[in-house]
Amino acid sequence: MRKDNCIFCKIANGEIPSRTLYEDEEFRVILDLGPATKGHALILPKDHYADLFELPEEKAGEVMCLAKRMVMKMKEKLGCEGFNLVQNNGDLAGQTVFHFHMHLIPRYRADGQTIGWKPQEVSEEELEEVKNQIVD
Ligand code: 5GP
Ligand code: ZN
Repeated sequence: MRKDNCIFCKIANGEIPSRTLYEDEEFRVILDLGPATKGHALILPKDHYADLFELPEEKAGEVMCLAKRMVMKMKEKLGCEGFNLVQNNGDLAGQTVFHFHMHLIPRYRADGQTIGWKPQEVSEEELEEVKNQIVD
């Protein structure tokens, strides 16, 4: 199902042109218009899901298989040495387009990008507490 006024629905379904690296019945992989590095790509499902919370498990599995195929091909063609797979959910987490997408970010030596977080100090007690909060 598509959502009116969703730009990624329009791109994924070909209503708005994009630089497409791959397409099948379920997905389109496009170049990001504001790339972190050369070749930064996005996997878009053709159906509308706002984020990972809405994405069905089966599709989530397919996204990962497609990511694997894409990074193998892009590594060979672009000669990058590494890859970051980034997937933001919710504006707090940095999501700006609310149609599920997976970033495929090729990494090159001295590409000047930093994708990461500041590690926090945590005690053994806090680790145990959070584990117990999550595990049934
Ligand atoms: P988010 O911050 O939601 O995880 O990522 C959204 C990404 O979509 C950004 O990297 C941004 O550059 C990209 N983007 C936003 N609008 C367009 C567009 O119209 N076309 C393409 N190809 N990428 C877009
Ligand atoms: Zn959409």
